Amino acid sequence: METKSKQLFEEAKRYIPGGVNSPVRAFGAVKRTPRFIASAYGDRIVDVDGNEMIDYVCSWGPGILGHAHPRVIKQIQKACENGLTYGAPTEKEVILAKLIAEMVPSMEVSRLVSSGTEAVMSAIRVARGYTKRDKIIKFKGCYHGHSDGLLVKAGSAALTTSIPDSAGVPADYTKNTLVASYNDFASVEALFQANPEEIAAVIVEPVAANMGVVLPKPGFLEFLREITKKFGALLIFDEVITGFRLALGGAQEYYQIVPDLTTLGKIVGGGMPIGAYGGRKEIMEVVSPVGAVYQAGTLSGNPIATTAGIETLQILKEDPKIYQRIEEKAKKIADIVRETAKGKVYVNQIGSLLSIFFTSKIVIDYESAVSSDTAKYAEYFGYLLDRGIYVAPSQFEAMFLSDAHTHQDVESTCQLIKEYFAGI
Ligand SMILES: *Cc1c(COP(=O)(O)O)cnc(C)c1O
Repeated sequence: METKSKQLFEEAKRYIPGGVNSPVRAFGAVKRTPRFIASAYGDRIVDVDGNEMIDYVCSWGPGILGHAHPRVIKQIQKACENGLTYGAPTEKEVILAKLIAEMVPSMEVSRLVSSGTEAVMSAIRVARGYTKRDKIIKFKGCYHGHSDGLLVKAGSAALTTSIPDSAGVPADYTKNTLVASYNDFASVEALFQANPEEIAAVIVEPVAANMGVVLPKPGFLEFLREITKKFGALLIFDEVITGFRLALGGAQEYYQIVPDLTTLGKIVGGGMPIGAYGGRKEIMEVVSPVGAVYQAGTLSGNPIATTAGIETLQILKEDPKIYQRIEEKAKKIADIVRETAKGKVYVNQIGSLLSIFFTSKIVIDYESAVSSDTAKYAEYFGYLLDRGIYVAPSQFEAMFLSDAHTHQDVESTCQLIKEYFAGI
């Protein structure tokens, strides 16, 4: 039954572009009606028609503890009674910045903002202000939010041209963003050779999770660390997804690489809107009011959002075994799919993140990811949705596991996936 969701979607489309406040929510790629959500708890999400589903989207990453964790909710309720926002500093911001520095040691000093997009946009401004250079390198298939300079694709002569990947972005805003290929060492080397003294930073998702999950090849992140150092550029890890998810200290702890700047989002807000960027003190001191790089926000460090972030990080810190637990569940699903769908799909899994690519290719970069058959993914998605399993409505998004996923729910999910692949 999707009666109410259908009605709401029709009404939403009259007042909101495409009926949604973020494009992927429209279910366009899977040709279904988006479910309008009424509530969620633990690993379950419930729509307005009363359908209860096991949720593997987890709000695209923040929900590492599952929905409505009692400790987080209680602290938020308490905080609300003291007012929602002051536009003045609070102790909570100090506590959260300290927690971040403790858990992600490369972030000695950090700034709180209200989204991942803002965190990345600001980190890049810092890199440019610090190095006094304009150009940056990003990777095809990595997503860093929707700021102008990062909505870019390689032009026909990739080495020298980049063009906007969205209407409304002037070509002038993307001309300083150079595009390399993920896991392709030579593509990075070539861009540095062509612009030896002009590159302020390389920005990368240390584990790419926005073209589906794509792991860095052994040595790739080490190579980025070395080449940025050699050319006097900064290395920015966009850990908006991987931060507090792959390990307490994110991908940089998992792979033991120390970036110059890090961006966080999603989990750091515990389900509320927070982003953060930070790095060594000496770099972060270019930020206003200490330095000359301007960056500000009316609701930055909002007391309710910081409360949710603090409580979430505290819970993770108190119980680091959580990472083992969530990985085991993701691995179980990955193993079942590999066993039952041999040759039909390629599975990438790391920690609590996984993607099932409907391709026979090995997925290591954007080209291999987009070799997937999205119509087949849509069919798989619909099969699961109709049976109470809510996975990402796009081939190119990750499947997220949380600590709230019960063994029983993971087991029944595996069973359904097995049935699906046995039938195709
Ligand atoms: C989600 C995401 C962003 C953007 O964060 P928003 O909070 O949606 O603005 C940036 N980088 C990565 C790697 C992300 O996954």
